Amino acid sequence: MTILSQIPDCVWPAIPGKAGALALALQYQLEHIQWMPGDQIRLAQFGQLHRVLAEAFSKIAYWRDTLKRAGFESGRTFSEVQFASLPILDRLAVQGLADKLVNPSVPGSHGKVYKGSTSGSTGTPVVFYQTDLTQHFWRALTLREHLWQRRDFSGKMAVIRSNVNTRVAGNWGAATAQVIKTGPACTLNIRADIDEQLDWLHKHNPDYLLTHPSNLKALAIRAAEHSVALPRLRQLRSFGEILSDDTREQCRRAWKVEIADIYSSEEAGCIASQCEHGAYHVQSENLLVEIVNDHGAACEPGEIGRVLITTLHNFAMPLIRYEIGDYAESGAECPCGRGLPVIRRIMGRVRNMLKLPDGTQHWPSFPEDRWIGIAPIQQLQVVQKSLDTIVLKVKSTRDLTATEVSRLIETFQQTLKFPHRITVESVASIPRSKNSKFEDFISEIA
Ligand SMILES: [Zn+2]
Repeated sequence: MTILSQIPDCVWPAIPGKAGALALALQYQLEHIQWMPGDQIRLAQFGQLHRVLAEAFSKIAYWRDTLKRAGFESGRTFSEVQFASLPILDRLAVQGLADKLVNPSVPGSHGKVYKGSTSGSTGTPVVFYQTDLTQHFWRALTLREHLWQRRDFSGKMAVIRSNVNTRVAGNWGAATAQVIKTGPACTLNIRADIDEQLDWLHKHNPDYLLTHPSNLKALAIRAAEHSVALPRLRQLRSFGEILSDDTREQCRRAWKVEIADIYSSEEAGCIASQCEHGAYHVQSENLLVEIVNDHGAACEPGEIGRVLITTLHNFAMPLIRYEIGDYAESGAECPCGRGLPVIRRIMGRVRNMLKLPDGTQHWPSFPEDRWIGIAPIQQLQVVQKSLDTIVLKVKSTRDLTATEVSRLIETFQQTLKFPHRITVESVASIPRSKNSKFEDFISEIA
Protein backbone atom coordinates (compact mmCIF):
# COMPACT_ATOMS: atom_id res chain seq x y z
CA MET A 1 0.00 0.00 0.00
CA THR A 2 1.44 3.37 -1.01
CA ILE A 3 0.34 6.38 1.05
CA LEU A 4 0.32 9.56 -1.03
CA SER A 5 2.91 12.09 0.10
CA GLN A 6 2.63 15.84 -0.21
CA ILE A 7 6.43 16.13 -0.29
CA PRO A 8 7.54 14.68 -3.62
CA ASP A 9 10.99 13.52 -2.48
CA CYS A 10 9.77 12.13 0.83
CA VAL A 11 7.80 9.06 -0.11
CA TRP A 12 8.92 6.65 2.60
CA PRO A 13 7.43 7.01 5.05
CA ALA A 14 5.03 9.39 3.33
CA ILE A 15 3.90 12.76 4.65
CA PRO A 16 0.22 12.90 3.70
CA GLY A 17 -1.56 16.12 2.75
CA LYS A 18 -4.35 17.54 4.91
CA ALA A 19 -7.17 15.41 3.44
CA GLY A 20 -5.01 12.28 3.54
CA ALA A 21 -3.96 12.95 7.14
CA LEU A 22 -7.61 13.39 8.19
CA ALA A 23 -8.61 10.17 6.48
CA LEU A 24 -5.73 8.22 8.01
CA ALA A 25 -6.36 9.64 11.49
CA LEU A 26 -9.92 8.37 11.35
CA GLN A 27 -8.78 5.03 9.91
CA TYR A 28 -6.33 4.63 12.80
CA GLN A 29 -9.21 4.98 15.28
CA LEU A 30 -11.54 2.68 13.30
CA GLU A 31 -8.83 0.02 13.29
CA HIS A 32 -8.63 0.23 17.08
CA ILE A 33 -12.37 0.46 17.82
CA GLN A 34 -13.35 -2.62 15.81
CA TRP A 35 -11.42 -4.91 18.22
CA MET A 36 -12.95 -3.42 21.36
CA PRO A 37 -15.47 -5.60 23.27
CA GLY A 38 -19.04 -5.06 22.11
CA ASP A 39 -20.19 -3.48 25.38
CA GLN A 40 -17.38 -0.91 25.28
CA ILE A 41 -18.26 0.00 21.71
CA ARG A 42 -21.89 0.36 22.78
CA LEU A 43 -20.91 2.65 25.64
CA ALA A 44 -18.84 4.91 23.38
CA GLN A 45 -21.63 4.85 20.83
CA PHE A 46 -24.13 6.10 23.42
CA GLY A 47 -21.72 8.91 24.29
CA GLN A 48 -21.82 10.10 20.67
CA LEU A 49 -25.57 9.41 20.46
CA HIS A 50 -26.06 11.78 23.36
CA ARG A 51 -24.41 14.56 21.33
CA VAL A 52 -26.80 14.03 18.42
CA LEU A 53 -29.82 13.91 20.70
CA ALA A 54 -28.70 17.07 22.51
CA GLU A 55 -28.36 18.87 19.17
CA ALA A 56 -31.79 17.62 18.02
CA PHE A 57 -33.30 18.57 21.38
CA SER A 58 -31.98 22.11 21.29
CA LYS A 59 -32.66 22.93 17.63
CA ILE A 60 -35.46 20.78 16.21
CA ALA A 61 -38.92 21.29 17.77
CA TYR A 62 -40.23 17.84 16.80
CA TRP A 63 -37.31 16.16 18.58
CA ARG A 64 -37.51 18.50 21.57
CA ASP A 65 -41.10 17.38 22.24
CA THR A 66 -40.41 13.72 21.47
CA LEU A 67 -37.24 13.53 23.55
CA LYS A 68 -38.84 15.39 26.44
CA ARG A 69 -41.60 12.76 26.56
CA ALA A 70 -38.91 10.05 26.75
CA GLY A 71 -37.27 11.81 29.70
CA PHE A 72 -34.28 13.28 27.86
CA GLU A 73 -32.41 16.07 29.63
CA SER A 74 -29.33 17.64 28.14
CA GLY A 75 -26.28 16.86 30.27
CA ARG A 76 -27.96 13.89 32.03
CA THR A 77 -27.60 10.22 31.17
CA PHE A 78 -30.12 8.93 28.66
CA SER A 79 -30.37 5.19 29.18
CA GLU A 80 -30.75 2.45 26.58
CA VAL A 81 -34.23 1.82 27.97
CA GLN A 82 -35.19 5.47 27.50
CA PHE A 83 -33.73 5.38 23.99
CA ALA A 84 -35.77 2.27 23.16
CA SER A 85 -38.92 4.10 24.24
CA LEU A 86 -38.52 6.68 21.46
CA PRO A 87 -41.04 6.19 18.64
CA ILE A 88 -40.03 4.31 15.51
CA LEU A 89 -40.08 6.59 12.47
CA ASP A 90 -40.88 4.75 9.26
CA ARG A 91 -40.46 6.16 5.77
CA LEU A 92 -44.04 7.42 5.68
CA ALA A 93 -43.54 9.31 8.95
CA VAL A 94 -40.30 10.85 7.66
CA GLN A 95 -42.06 11.89 4.45
CA GLY A 96 -44.94 13.36 6.48
CA LEU A 97 -42.73 15.28 8.91
CA ALA A 98 -40.41 16.43 6.09
CA ASP A 99 -38.79 19.79 7.02
CA LYS A 100 -39.82 19.37 10.65
CA LEU A 101 -36.89 16.93 10.99
CA VAL A 102 -34.34 19.35 9.56
CA ASN A 103 -31.88 21.28 11.72
CA PRO A 104 -32.18 25.00 10.83
CA SER A 105 -28.62 25.79 12.03
CA VAL A 106 -26.10 23.00 11.58
CA PRO A 107 -22.79 23.70 13.39
CA GLY A 108 -20.34 25.29 10.94
CA SER A 109 -17.68 22.72 11.84
CA HIS A 110 -19.74 20.04 10.07
CA GLY A 111 -19.10 21.72 6.70
CA LYS A 112 -21.56 22.18 3.87
CA VAL A 113 -25.09 20.77 3.97
CA TYR A 114 -26.35 18.70 1.02
CA LYS A 115 -29.93 17.81 0.17
CA GLY A 116 -30.63 14.39 -1.30
CA SER A 117 -33.57 12.10 -1.89
CA THR A 118 -33.95 8.35 -2.12
CA SER A 119 -34.73 7.01 -5.56
CA GLY A 120 -36.82 4.14 -4.20
CA SER A 121 -38.69 1.84 -6.54
CA THR A 122 -42.08 2.53 -5.01
CA GLY A 123 -43.85 5.53 -3.54
CA THR A 124 -42.62 8.99 -2.70
CA PRO A 125 -38.90 9.45 -2.16
CA VAL A 126 -37.54 10.28 1.29
CA VAL A 127 -35.80 13.66 1.32
CA PHE A 128 -32.69 13.74 3.53
CA TYR A 129 -29.81 16.09 4.34
CA GLN A 130 -26.15 15.28 4.82
CA THR A 131 -23.00 17.25 5.58
CA ASP A 132 -19.31 17.25 4.72
CA LEU A 133 -18.83 15.36 7.98
CA THR A 134 -21.22 12.54 7.02
CA GLN A 135 -19.50 12.32 3.61
CA HIS A 136 -16.18 12.05 5.44
CA PHE A 137 -17.48 9.01 7.34
CA TRP A 138 -18.87 7.47 4.13
CA ARG A 139 -15.39 7.68 2.55
CA ALA A 140 -13.67 6.36 5.70
CA LEU A 141 -15.95 3.31 5.86
CA THR A 142 -15.42 2.64 2.15
CA LEU A 143 -11.66 2.69 2.72
CA ARG A 144 -12.06 0.45 5.76
CA GLU A 145 -13.92 -2.09 3.62
CA HIS A 146 -11.04 -2.11 1.09
CA LEU A 147 -8.68 -2.80 4.01
CA TRP A 148 -10.87 -5.53 5.50
CA GLN A 149 -10.93 -7.25 2.13
CA ARG A 150 -7.16 -6.75 1.71
CA ARG A 151 -7.59 -5.48 -1.81
CA ASP A 152 -4.55 -4.85 -3.91
CA PHE A 153 -4.72 -1.08 -4.41
CA SER A 154 -2.59 -1.30 -7.55
CA GLY A 155 -5.37 -3.23 -9.32
CA LYS A 156 -7.96 -1.93 -11.77
CA MET A 157 -11.48 -1.28 -10.44
CA ALA A 158 -14.48 -1.60 -12.79
CA VAL A 159 -17.78 -0.06 -11.71
CA ILE A 160 -21.17 -0.61 -13.37
CA ARG A 161 -23.92 1.44 -11.75
CA SER A 162 -26.47 4.19 -12.33
CA ASN A 163 -25.66 7.91 -12.58
CA VAL A 164 -22.25 7.41 -14.18
CA ASN A 165 -20.89 7.87 -17.67
CA THR A 166 -18.53 5.61 -19.52
CA ARG A 167 -15.08 6.80 -18.52
CA VAL A 168 -11.67 5.84 -17.24
CA ALA A 169 -10.20 7.52 -14.16
CA GLY A 170 -6.73 7.48 -12.69
CA ASN A 171 -7.82 6.27 -9.25
CA TRP A 172 -10.56 4.37 -7.42
CA GLY A 173 -12.48 7.47 -6.32
CA ALA A 174 -13.09 9.72 -3.33
CA ALA A 175 -12.38 7.17 -0.57
CA THR A 176 -8.78 6.67 -1.70
CA ALA A 177 -8.03 9.62 -4.04
CA GLN A 178 -6.10 11.77 -1.56
CA VAL A 179 -4.89 8.98 0.70
CA ILE A 180 -3.58 5.95 -1.14
CA LYS A 181 -2.11 5.49 -4.58
CA THR A 182 -4.40 3.17 -6.51
CA GLY A 183 -4.59 1.70 -9.95
CA PRO A 184 -7.14 3.07 -12.45
CA ALA A 185 -10.92 2.74 -12.39
CA CYS A 186 -13.36 2.47 -15.27
CA THR A 187 -17.10 3.12 -15.09
CA LEU A 188 -20.05 2.11 -17.24
CA ASN A 189 -23.73 2.97 -16.85
CA ILE A 190 -25.86 0.01 -15.78
CA ARG A 191 -28.38 0.82 -18.54
CA ALA A 192 -25.97 -0.77 -21.04
CA ASP A 193 -27.21 -4.21 -22.03
CA ILE A 194 -25.52 -7.31 -20.68
CA ASP A 195 -23.61 -8.17 -23.87
CA GLU A 196 -22.28 -4.63 -24.08
CA GLN A 197 -21.27 -4.81 -20.40
CA LEU A 198 -19.46 -8.11 -20.98
CA ASP A 199 -17.59 -6.74 -24.02
CA TRP A 200 -16.59 -3.72 -21.95
CA LEU A 201 -15.40 -5.91 -19.07
CA HIS A 202 -13.47 -8.15 -21.42
CA LYS A 203 -11.77 -5.09 -22.93
CA HIS A 204 -10.86 -3.59 -19.54
CA ASN A 205 -9.93 -6.89 -17.88
CA PRO A 206 -10.35 -5.53 -14.31
CA ASP A 207 -9.06 -6.92 -11.01
CA TYR A 208 -12.29 -5.95 -9.22
CA LEU A 209 -15.87 -5.28 -10.32
CA LEU A 210 -18.49 -3.37 -8.34
CA THR A 211 -22.18 -3.52 -9.33
CA HIS A 212 -25.67 -4.57 -8.16
CA PRO A 213 -26.22 -8.29 -7.37
CA SER A 214 -28.89 -8.74 -10.07
CA ASN A 215 -26.48 -7.34 -12.63
CA LEU A 216 -23.67 -9.60 -11.40
CA LYS A 217 -25.95 -12.59 -11.77
CA ALA A 218 -26.97 -11.67 -15.33
CA LEU A 219 -23.30 -11.06 -16.25
CA ALA A 220 -22.15 -14.34 -14.70
CA ILE A 221 -24.81 -16.39 -16.50
CA ARG A 222 -24.02 -14.79 -19.85
CA ALA A 223 -20.26 -15.09 -19.29
CA ALA A 224 -20.62 -18.79 -18.52
CA GLU A 225 -22.78 -19.32 -21.64
CA HIS A 226 -20.29 -17.56 -23.92
CA SER A 227 -17.13 -18.56 -22.02
CA VAL A 228 -16.13 -14.94 -21.40
CA ALA A 229 -13.09 -15.15 -19.15
CA LEU A 230 -11.89 -12.23 -17.04
CA PRO A 231 -8.40 -13.51 -16.29
CA ARG A 232 -7.35 -10.79 -13.85
CA LEU A 233 -10.58 -10.77 -11.83
CA ARG A 234 -9.91 -11.39 -8.12
CA GLN A 235 -13.10 -10.33 -6.38
CA LEU A 236 -16.58 -8.97 -7.03
CA ARG A 237 -18.20 -6.26 -4.95
CA SER A 238 -21.94 -5.73 -4.66
CA PHE A 239 -24.33 -3.21 -3.13
CA GLY A 240 -27.89 -1.92 -3.31
CA GLU A 241 -29.90 -5.15 -3.49
CA ILE A 242 -30.23 -8.45 -1.65
CA LEU A 243 -27.37 -10.75 -2.58
CA SER A 244 -28.59 -14.35 -2.92
CA ASP A 245 -26.60 -17.57 -2.54
CA ASP A 246 -27.62 -18.31 -6.12
CA THR A 247 -25.82 -15.19 -7.35
CA ARG A 248 -22.70 -16.13 -5.39
CA GLU A 249 -22.83 -19.58 -6.96
CA GLN A 250 -23.29 -18.25 -10.52
CA CYS A 251 -20.24 -16.01 -10.07
CA ARG A 252 -18.10 -18.88 -8.78
CA ARG A 253 -19.20 -20.94 -11.75
CA ALA A 254 -18.41 -18.21 -14.30
CA TRP A 255 -15.18 -16.78 -12.90
CA LYS A 256 -14.21 -18.73 -9.76
CA VAL A 257 -14.38 -15.61 -7.60
CA GLU A 258 -16.21 -14.55 -4.45
CA ILE A 259 -18.39 -11.51 -3.74
CA ALA A 260 -17.94 -8.97 -0.93
CA ASP A 261 -21.28 -7.29 -0.28
CA ILE A 262 -21.95 -3.91 1.33
CA TYR A 263 -25.22 -3.09 3.07
CA SER A 264 -25.84 0.62 2.61
CA SER A 265 -28.59 3.12 1.93
CA GLU A 266 -28.63 6.54 0.35
CA GLU A 267 -30.00 8.26 3.47
CA ALA A 268 -27.86 6.45 6.09
CA GLY A 269 -24.64 5.62 4.22
CA CYS A 270 -22.67 2.47 4.90
CA ILE A 271 -24.61 0.29 7.38
CA ALA A 272 -22.64 -2.99 7.42
CA SER A 273 -19.66 -4.49 5.58
CA GLN A 274 -18.43 -8.05 5.39
CA CYS A 275 -15.27 -9.13 7.18
CA GLU A 276 -12.95 -11.89 6.00
CA HIS A 277 -15.36 -14.45 7.55
CA GLY A 278 -18.24 -13.12 5.47
CA ALA A 279 -20.17 -11.72 8.47
CA TYR A 280 -21.88 -8.36 7.99
CA HIS A 281 -20.48 -6.13 10.74
CA VAL A 282 -22.48 -3.04 11.65
CA GLN A 283 -20.43 0.13 11.17
CA SER A 284 -21.13 1.16 14.75
CA GLU A 285 -18.83 4.18 14.65
CA ASN A 286 -21.25 5.78 12.19
CA LEU A 287 -24.65 4.49 13.16
CA LEU A 288 -26.58 2.53 15.70
CA VAL A 289 -28.50 -0.38 14.25
CA GLU A 290 -31.37 -2.12 16.03
CA ILE A 291 -33.15 -5.20 14.73
CA VAL A 292 -36.53 -5.38 16.44
CA ASN A 293 -39.37 -7.91 16.40
CA ASP A 294 -43.09 -7.18 15.98
CA HIS A 295 -43.32 -6.20 19.65
CA GLY A 296 -40.52 -3.67 19.25
CA ALA A 297 -38.08 -5.75 21.35
CA ALA A 298 -34.48 -6.35 20.25
CA CYS A 299 -34.10 -9.59 18.28
CA GLU A 300 -31.94 -12.39 19.65
CA PRO A 301 -29.31 -13.95 17.36
CA GLY A 302 -31.15 -16.04 14.78
CA GLU A 303 -34.33 -13.95 15.00
CA ILE A 304 -35.55 -11.87 12.03
CA GLY A 305 -36.86 -8.35 12.54
CA ARG A 306 -37.13 -4.82 11.22
CA VAL A 307 -33.96 -2.76 10.81
CA LEU A 308 -33.89 0.58 12.65
CA ILE A 309 -31.10 3.07 12.05
CA THR A 310 -29.86 5.95 14.18
CA THR A 311 -27.18 8.11 12.56
CA LEU A 312 -24.47 9.34 14.92
CA HIS A 313 -22.90 12.19 12.95
CA ASN A 314 -25.70 13.62 10.86
CA PHE A 315 -26.60 16.88 12.60
CA ALA A 316 -28.38 18.28 9.53
CA MET A 317 -31.23 15.77 9.66
CA PRO A 318 -30.62 13.24 12.42
CA LEU A 319 -32.35 9.95 11.68
CA ILE A 320 -33.33 8.50 15.04
CA ARG A 321 -34.83 5.01 15.22
CA TYR A 322 -35.57 5.27 11.51
CA GLU A 323 -37.18 2.16 10.04
CA ILE A 324 -35.35 1.79 6.79
CA GLY A 325 -37.81 -0.78 5.38
CA ASP A 326 -35.57 -3.88 5.40
CA TYR A 327 -35.82 -7.03 7.45
CA ALA A 328 -32.65 -8.71 8.70
CA GLU A 329 -31.54 -11.61 10.88
CA SER A 330 -29.58 -10.72 13.98
CA GLY A 331 -26.26 -12.56 14.19
CA ALA A 332 -24.07 -14.01 16.93
CA GLU A 333 -20.47 -12.91 17.58
CA CYS A 334 -18.11 -13.44 14.66
CA PRO A 335 -15.03 -15.68 14.95
CA CYS A 336 -12.91 -12.80 13.59
CA GLY A 337 -13.06 -11.28 17.08
CA ARG A 338 -14.35 -7.84 16.09
CA GLY A 339 -16.68 -6.28 18.65
CA LEU A 340 -18.85 -4.69 15.96
CA PRO A 341 -22.33 -6.30 16.01
CA VAL A 342 -23.21 -8.85 13.35
CA ILE A 343 -26.14 -9.00 10.97
CA ARG A 344 -26.39 -12.57 9.78
CA ARG A 345 -28.52 -11.96 6.70
CA ILE A 346 -30.38 -9.08 5.10
CA MET A 347 -33.72 -10.48 4.03
CA GLY A 348 -35.27 -7.69 1.98
CA ARG A 349 -38.35 -5.57 2.18
CA VAL A 350 -41.95 -6.36 3.01
CA ARG A 351 -42.82 -6.13 -0.68
CA ASN A 352 -40.37 -8.99 -1.37
CA MET A 353 -42.17 -11.25 1.08
CA LEU A 354 -44.52 -14.02 -0.05
CA LYS A 355 -47.71 -14.32 1.96
CA LEU A 356 -49.57 -17.65 2.01
CA PRO A 357 -53.31 -18.15 2.66
CA ASP A 358 -52.54 -19.74 6.07
CA GLY A 359 -51.01 -16.43 7.19
CA THR A 360 -47.36 -17.52 7.03
CA GLN A 361 -44.83 -15.34 5.22
CA HIS A 362 -41.32 -15.81 3.89
CA TRP A 363 -38.83 -14.39 1.43
CA PRO A 364 -38.89 -16.77 -1.52
CA SER A 365 -35.90 -17.47 -3.73
CA PHE A 366 -35.87 -18.76 -7.26
CA PRO A 367 -32.52 -20.36 -8.08
CA GLU A 368 -31.94 -20.08 -11.82
CA ASP A 369 -30.99 -23.72 -12.28
CA ARG A 370 -34.52 -24.84 -11.32
CA TRP A 371 -36.17 -23.16 -14.30
CA ILE A 372 -33.54 -22.07 -16.80
CA GLY A 373 -33.55 -25.43 -18.64
CA ILE A 374 -37.33 -25.45 -19.16
CA ALA A 375 -37.55 -22.75 -21.84
CA PRO A 376 -35.34 -20.12 -23.53
CA ILE A 377 -35.99 -17.55 -20.80
CA GLN A 378 -33.75 -14.49 -20.57
CA GLN A 379 -35.37 -12.73 -17.63
CA LEU A 380 -38.05 -13.59 -15.12
CA GLN A 381 -39.96 -11.80 -12.39
CA VAL A 382 -42.52 -13.28 -10.00
CA VAL A 383 -45.42 -11.06 -8.92
CA GLN A 384 -47.88 -12.00 -6.20
CA LYS A 385 -51.28 -10.54 -7.11
CA SER A 386 -53.38 -12.06 -4.31
CA LEU A 387 -52.88 -14.70 -1.61
CA ASP A 388 -53.21 -17.51 -4.14
CA THR A 389 -52.47 -15.81 -7.46
CA ILE A 390 -49.05 -15.41 -9.02
CA VAL A 391 -48.00 -13.91 -12.36
CA LEU A 392 -44.70 -14.98 -13.89
CA LYS A 393 -43.40 -12.23 -16.13
CA VAL A 394 -41.14 -13.86 -18.65
CA LYS A 395 -38.86 -12.42 -21.31
CA SER A 396 -37.88 -15.17 -23.73
CA THR A 397 -36.24 -15.47 -27.14
CA ARG A 398 -39.44 -16.95 -28.63
CA ASP A 399 -43.03 -17.76 -27.62
CA LEU A 400 -43.20 -20.56 -25.07
CA THR A 401 -44.98 -23.80 -25.98
CA ALA A 402 -47.93 -25.09 -23.94
CA THR A 403 -45.70 -27.83 -22.49
CA GLU A 404 -43.04 -25.31 -21.43
CA VAL A 405 -45.68 -23.13 -19.79
CA SER A 406 -47.14 -26.01 -17.81
CA ARG A 407 -43.68 -27.23 -16.72
CA LEU A 408 -42.84 -23.71 -15.62
CA ILE A 409 -46.06 -23.45 -13.59
CA GLU A 410 -45.43 -26.80 -11.96
CA THR A 411 -41.84 -25.85 -11.08
CA PHE A 412 -42.88 -22.57 -9.49
CA GLN A 413 -45.68 -24.22 -7.52
CA GLN A 414 -43.03 -26.54 -6.08
CA THR A 415 -40.60 -23.68 -5.41
CA LEU A 416 -43.29 -21.57 -3.75
CA LYS A 417 -44.46 -24.61 -1.76
CA PHE A 418 -48.10 -23.83 -2.48
CA PRO A 419 -50.46 -24.68 -5.39
CA HIS A 420 -50.89 -21.06 -6.48
CA ARG A 421 -52.91 -20.19 -9.55
CA ILE A 422 -50.00 -19.19 -11.75
CA THR A 423 -50.24 -17.43 -15.10
CA VAL A 424 -47.29 -16.85 -17.40
CA GLU A 425 -47.15 -13.44 -19.04
CA SER A 426 -44.78 -12.88 -21.92
CA VAL A 427 -43.12 -9.44 -21.79
CA ALA A 428 -40.71 -7.56 -24.08
CA SER A 429 -38.51 -6.56 -21.14
CA ILE A 430 -38.49 -6.30 -17.36
CA PRO A 431 -37.13 -2.83 -16.72
CA ARG A 432 -35.10 -1.93 -13.66
CA SER A 433 -36.67 0.54 -11.26
CA LYS A 434 -35.69 4.23 -11.15
CA ASN A 435 -32.70 3.48 -8.96
CA SER A 436 -31.56 0.70 -11.31
CA LYS A 437 -32.45 -2.03 -8.88
CA PHE A 438 -34.10 -5.31 -9.77
CA GLU A 439 -36.35 -7.47 -7.64
CA ASP A 440 -37.09 -11.04 -8.71
CA PHE A 441 -40.12 -11.21 -6.44
CA ILE A 442 -42.64 -8.46 -5.78
CA SER A 443 -45.76 -8.80 -3.67
CA GLU A 444 -48.60 -6.47 -4.61
CA ILE A 445 -50.51 -7.38 -1.44
CA ALA A 446 -47.76 -6.44 1.07
ZN1 LIG B 1 -16.12 -10.87 11.46
